[in-house]
Amino acid sequence: MMKIKPRPLAQLYNDYSGILGVVVGLSGKREKSGALLYEVKCADCGEIHLRNAKHLKQGVKYQKCSEYKPPNYVGMNKRDAVIRKQYGITLEEYNNMLKAQDYKCAICGNEDEVEDRKLAIDHCHSTGDVRGLLCGKCNRGLGLFYDNQELLQQAIQYLKNALAR
Ligand SMILES: [Zn+2]
Ligand SMILES: [Zn+2]
Repeated sequence: MMKIKPRPLAQLYNDYSGILGVVVGLSGKREKSGALLYEVKCADCGEIHLRNAKHLKQGVKYQKCSEYKPPNYVGMNKRDAVIRKQYGITLEEYNNMLKAQDYKCAICGNEDEVEDRKLAIDHCHSTGDVRGLLCGKCNRGLGLFYDNQELLQQAIQYLKNALAR
């Protein structure tokens, strides 16, 4: 099963709205904090904007650019926007995962919720990693057992003991 690492929002929106631009070189200027500023030929307006290394790494666009659009701009698929915001993955990644699971819940194999409800995104509460897609019941089931493997094992043992009695 493939696991997806969540990414910062700015990076996801950059995926969606196109590339930041091409780094031309160092500008010779620095931010007040001392961070070096690079000249970037903007992919949207074609002008040169100054961006620091962190901006470049995360794909953060220049907010004063005449073509700059705020992250949650209109026109984006609503479900895509929600998935990006809540789980740090794209709808495309969700769909790829769904396909890889053959449109079935990763635990019980149920697919009757796919049609109208779509499978729930199961993520690890400590790392944020998206572990897989589950039907509503299996997703709630894991949550009710606090994602705790030991507790789940004990539940299985309990059921086995009851049968043996
Ligand atoms: Zn620009
Ligand atoms: Zn299930």
